[in-house]
Formats: sequence, structure tokens, C-alpha cells
Amino acid sequence: EEIQTSDDVVRGTNDDATVSRLSAVNLRYFQDPFVKLFVKRPIRRSPIINRGTFIRSYAIDSIVSQFLNIPGPKKQIVALGAGFDTRYFNIKAGILNHKGNTLSENLATYFEVDFSEITMKKAMMIKKRKELCSLLADSDQVKIGRGGMDLLSKDYSILGGDLRNWSDIANRLMEAGLDLELPTLFISECVFIYISPEESNTILKWITDNMKNTMFTLYEQIKPDDAFGKMMIRNLKSRDIELKGLQAFPDLTHQEKRFKDLGWQIAKVVDINTIHDKYLERSEIMRISKLEILDELEEWHLLSAHYCVAWAVNSIDFVQEFNSVQ
Ligand code: SAM
Repeated sequence: EEIQTSDDVVRGTNDDATVSRLSAVNLRYFQDPFVKLFVKRPIRRSPIINRGTFIRSYAIDSIVSQFLNIPGPKKQIVALGAGFDTRYFNIKAGILNHKGNTLSENLATYFEVDFSEITMKKAMMIKKRKELCSLLADSDQVKIGRGGMDLLSKDYSILGGDLRNWSDIANRLMEAGLDLELPTLFISECVFIYISPEESNTILKWITDNMKNTMFTLYEQIKPDDAFGKMMIRNLKSRDIELKGLQAFPDLTHQEKRFKDLGWQIAKVVDINTIHDKYLERSEIMRISKLEILDELEEWHLLSAHYCVAWAVNSIDFVQEFNSVQ
């Protein structure tokens, strides 16, 4: 039997996320025609997990689409630990839009970083499937680099590497065309939690030190210390998964402070209950409540209190736009 390293275990969380996404898509919580290409064995998740996946996706998608919709120059997105995230394809296909307006013409380049074991599989799938490949701006000029670990193209690049070696990743992003002047949104969707606070701070500080018009959005677990949090940690530990950022940023206020301390002008953090109760449209709540019966309301509220969405801005150009997610 192969020995699993702790990095293998972390990489395995990508399959969990992708399977959950497909489960929610198959039940019509949201649309994503591409995610099924990345799942070998679909599994139907519980109503609580499906609803959580929907709200996580809704929150990040809404930040992404508001960002791309800001008037001005074309924009970049950098997805850290992107895994099999399909957001680029959904933007290009017009499925992710802003109140019906397509966003792809506002996108300069979409960069993704993940361990090379993951980027290799993703790059291969993209080369193989026309429905993916044809969405790239220059689908006939896609370059595969570093023995299959990188994919480089005009408006989409995937880089294989370790976020804990940020100076290497930053250099390779710039080689791949990251423009330090253009407005740029960084995404960490369930990723920073797996690296140490020092390692994630290095990335956040590099961004404010080197770029002028940036946004960051993050989604991850909080509240390790109450009974539910302890159970959450125990369950993950039984699968050898360690959430390294959890003790350093245990609450909404700590999450906010992590950005402010490193030079971000605005930092807002809310939990999933708040997204559900305050930001999600009533019609959407009605719609999803008809998809599946969710009996375990108490458990749903507990789980939702243990995940947060953060967004931070460091820019003179678009500070005002981001006092809320809509
Ligand atoms: N962001 C994707 C999503 O939300 O569907 C994937 C989330 S998955 C829970 C965590 C991802 O972070 C995995 O794909 C994993 O390989 C990646 N990751 C974790 N630590 C990393 C590191 N040090 N360097 C590169 N990628 C990392």
C-alpha cells in the first residue's frame, strides 16, 4: 500500500470539494455544466452539505462577479489552491454573470495555483475535453509547461507548485503574465486553513507590498473552541486532516484583523448564517427550500456559524464598492 503524506491528505480535500459541488449541481442548487468532468464517482451529499456548498459558492461567485463588473481596466483573478474549481469556465461560458451581463470581456487573465499532482490532472482534462479547451481565448496556442504540470494560455494559466514557497510562486505568476498594476482579486476557498498563519501572512503581505489595486476573498472554518468546533476538529483529525489556521484566526474579529494588520484598507468577515439570512435573496431561499427537505435546522445553524466568508480591499479605486456582498 502507498504511504499517504500529510500533503496527500490535503490534496484529497479537493476531491471532497468537487464531489460536493457536483452533488449540489445535480440537485439544481446552482448551475455548473463543467464540474461533472472532474468527478469519477458522484456521491449525493446530505441536505446540510448541499446547502452549505450552495451558499459558499453563491458568496464567492457574487464577490467575483461584483469585482469583474467594476468599471475600468480589465481584471485579473488568482485562485490559490484552486483544485478542480471550474469558475473560469463558468465565467467564460456566461453561466457566472452579473445580473445577466456577461463578465468574460472584463477578464484579462485567470491564474490558478495548486500542487502539481492536481494541476497536472486538471491540465490534462482541459487538453482532452473540447467543451473546456474551446473556452480558452486562444485554444490553439495553449502551452503545456514543466512536463505537464503547468498550462499557459492567453487568458488562463494553471501553475503547479507549493503555496508555502510563495517567492517561487510569485515569480512564476509574474513570468506567466501577472500584471502588478491591474486590478486583481485573489481567492482562497478552503485553502489558507491548511497552511500555517506565517505562510498565509507572507502571501497577504506580498500582495499589499507589491500591488496597488487588489481584493482578497477567503472562505474557511472558524470557532474551534465550542462543542461543535471541537467535534469538527475531531472528525477531521480522524482523517488526518489538520486545520493549521484555525487556532490563529478563531473568530470573525481575528479574521478581520489578519487583513488589517497586513495593510488591507477594508476587511469584512461574516459567517454563513449571515450570508444566508442577510445577503441571499428571499426568492433564492424559497427556491432552494423546495429542492430538498432540511430537517436538521439546529445542526445547519451550528455548522454555518463555523464557516466564514471574508473580503478585503487594498485599492484607491474601488474601496466604496465593497462595503457589502450582494
Ligand atoms: N479551492 C477549491 C475549492 O474550493 O473547490 C479546492 C479546495 S480544497 C478543500 C483545498 C485545495 O488547496 C486543494 O486542492 C489542495 O491541493 C490545495 N492546497 C492546500 N495546500 C496547498 C499548498 N501548500 N500549495 C498548493 N496548493 C495547496
